[in-house]
Amino acid sequence: MAVSPDDAEHLAAPVTAEFAAAEQTVLQQLRDLLSPGIRRTGWAQARTAAAGLLRRALQRLLPGLRQRATQAAAAAVAQAVQVGDQAARRELEQHQLPPGPNDLDITPTRRLTRALTEDFEPVYARILRQPQDVYRDVVAAVSADVLNGQITRIRAAQRALDEFANRGITGFVDGRGRGWELTTYIEMAVRTTCGRAAVQAHVDRLTAAGHRFVFVSAPGGSCPLCAPWEGKVLALAGPAGPHEVEVPHAVTGRPVRVQVAGSLMEARAAGFQHANCRHSVSLYLPGVTTLPTAPPDAHTYENTQHQRYLERQVRRWKRREAAALDDAASKAARVQIRAYQARLRALVRETGQARQPAREQIGRAR
Ligand SMILES: [Zn+2]
Repeated sequence: MAVSPDDAEHLAAPVTAEFAAAEQTVLQQLRDLLSPGIRRTGWAQARTAAAGLLRRALQRLLPGLRQRATQAAAAAVAQAVQVGDQAARRELEQHQLPPGPNDLDITPTRRLTRALTEDFEPVYARILRQPQDVYRDVVAAVSADVLNGQITRIRAAQRALDEFANRGITGFVDGRGRGWELTTYIEMAVRTTCGRAAVQAHVDRLTAAGHRFVFVSAPGGSCPLCAPWEGKVLALAGPAGPHEVEVPHAVTGRPVRVQVAGSLMEARAAGFQHANCRHSVSLYLPGVTTLPTAPPDAHTYENTQHQRYLERQVRRWKRREAAALDDAASKAARVQIRAYQARLRALVRETGQARQPAREQIGRAR
């Protein structure tokens, strides 16, 4: 059985859930600290004086979050390695080939886990800092709007909180200068690492069992990055660039010629098996394996991207609901949640894509 980065995708959910739950807690803390006395004069002064409560609440939140997220990340990477290794073992078994040595080197697993949890650090800093800025901004904005006589205090506060809920705890910018929704950033980081761990464990097992080549699946509707490699043979080690080699036939041992498109490392350097990729590699047996071609009716990349967009909108309006200061605001948010969920249902019915409830959650009960 082959393995693609996408096969390890579901492993990200428990990690993302920790951050989503923290984000929801933060929104509720903001709401609870902003709402007392909102209909009375003197609100702004009282709320400014209460700012320390928020800082202490955030400081209490972080150690537990860090511990749970680190544990969840280690478990996710270890499982991803298992997914890849098991897939390779089953594949070898199907061909009635020996699985190679028993023990796999766990150093890469440890390294990947450490790198992943280091990616979380700027997020913790953000969770501590950003809500305090928002709190101050909301108090200031509300006071200004109300002084100008434009709007009631509760409506001004809701508007400012909504803006924050829309974005999530962001303004979060990664090392390459891209802005992210917090949970999207975490999910992307975990999925990328898990995907990499799974496909690497898979080819490590094939290599350890003495094999030299894999071939690339052809699921169709493919991302432009992977299209050049679909249905091609890649070398697990060896020179880059397309070339022809003479190797023994997997069964008869007679020499056969194999067209190699390049090395797996070269393909990956060119973007093959990026995060969320559905392309897999499988064991290529010279003279035996028939290379696949893409089916014409496969799910398109655009449909998948559209599903991700709708899921983001569901999460956005769930945050708005969590930040709602009154019934009208939470009711309006629920209407939007239902509308986007209806569009998701229609999309999956039309395309046959799987609905992914975990991706529509912003938190979970604990
Ligand atoms: Zn791809």
